[in-house]
Amino acid sequence: MKLVIIGAVAAGTSAAAKARRNSETAEIIIYEKDPDISFSVCGMPYYLGEQ
Ligand SMILES: Cc1cc2nc3c(=O)[nH]c(=O)nc-3n(C[C@H](O)[C@H](O)[C@H](O)COP(=O)(O)OP(=O)(O)OC[C@H]3O[C@@H](n4cnc5c(N)ncnc54)[C@H](O)[C@@H]3O)c2cc1C
Repeated sequence: MKLVIIGAVAAGTSAAAKARRNSETAEIIIYEKDPDISFSVCGMPYYLGEQ
């Protein structure tokens, strides 16, 4: 099985992790347009608030 996931962060990496748990042999590729595969979006207000 070959799985291509567009977009990482929460949903994409969750889908990839679930797919890997379901199949150890699946070929899983994630495309993410940003340089970081995941970051804490929820922490953004604290970062911007310099807390
Ligand atoms: C300020 C703020 C505070 C939040 N606080 C909380 C909280 O306290 N608790 C909580 O549960 N949730 C919170 N959330 C919501 C939570 O962050 C989001 O629900 C979560 O990030 C959604 O993840 P996602 O993977 O669905 O989408 P996204 O985070 O939007 O990720 C989608 C990814 O896909 C990539 N992408 C899009 N199009 C393409 C393409 N064509 N090719 C390649 N890559 C592509 C994007 O670059 C992006 O990285 C908060 C969100 C914000 C903005």
